[in-house]
Amino acid sequence: MIADFERIAHDTDGEPQTDDDIYSITKSLRLQLQGSIEIGGNTGTTSKDIGGLYSAEPLALIKPSGVDDIARVVKAASQVPHMTVAARGNGHSVNGQSMNDGGLVIDMRSTEENLFRLITLDCCTNYIDVSGGAIWEDVLTRCVSEFGLTPRSWTDYLGLTVGGTLSNAGVSGQAFRYGPQISNVMELDVVTGKGDIAVCSETQNPELFFGVLGGLGQFGIITRARVKVQTAPDMVGLSVLE
Ligand SMILES: Cc1cc2nc3c(=O)[nH]c(=O)nc-3n(C[C@H](O)[C@H](O)[C@H](O)COP(=O)(O)OP(=O)(O)OC[C@H]3O[C@@H](n4cnc5c(N)ncnc54)[C@H](O)[C@@H]3O)c2cc1C
Repeated sequence: MIADFERIAHDTDGEPQTDDDIYSITKSLRLQLQGSIEIGGNTGTTSKDIGGLYSAEPLALIKPSGVDDIARVVKAASQVPHMTVAARGNGHSVNGQSMNDGGLVIDMRSTEENLFRLITLDCCTNYIDVSGGAIWEDVLTRCVSEFGLTPRSWTDYLGLTVGGTLSNAGVSGQAFRYGPQISNVMELDVVTGKGDIAVCSETQNPELFFGVLGGLGQFGIITRARVKVQTAPDMVGLSVLE
């Protein structure tokens, strides 16, 4: 499924997009974006996901430099009838969820280095702020090496993005004790379907918070997640099943 912002971006049905619409949105994005935009056929692997079951031809692949770029893309798309936007993490969904035929694809990994910050609430409560496009493997490596901490709940396979798994659930061996990753998030920054940047949590914009967590990219784009962390163990065991 495509992360389709059409339903929340357009209050009324409009005419389908025309060549003029497409020309004007790509031109205005070229002017506004600090990151890059690749039009049409140069989008390479964005036409597929790891499942390889489907292919799609996006109108453009955008590599945003940060959250402001993402907001610009969604805002521009919201002004063109039937223009859709898909956030793409590491493309490890298998049913075309991060693809977008004829629409805009945002490569969230281009923001992965933007944010990595430890938040300490008191002596024993820590969180990290990470970009939606960060890969969990990098998050884990940095947490352990810089702070001696680990996220409480991971995925078993770590080559997935923070936004990609928080849009699903994010399950692993730790889920039996701490719940899925979506139960270990304190706060999110989200670009909404109208291109606004919103902070949400259980108490602030809770509808958005609980919509986006596990929402398959249909309710907004996660650009920052505040994730619970805990002290890393001194040693870990490895079991190999015969
Ligand atoms: C080899 C392999 C191992 C896996 N292991 C696990 C595992 O151990 N545990 C587990 O829970 N799952 C696992 N999965 C499934 C995987 O978690 C999901 O498919 C996940 O969505 C993929 O993450 P991604 O970063 O590749 O996201 P993508 O496939 O790129 O995107 C998935 C969905 O999330 C949306 N999305 C992406 N980024 C954002 C964002 N920043 N904000 C809002 N929406 C966004 C996309 O639009 C799309 O709908 C595995 C999959 C594979 C192929």
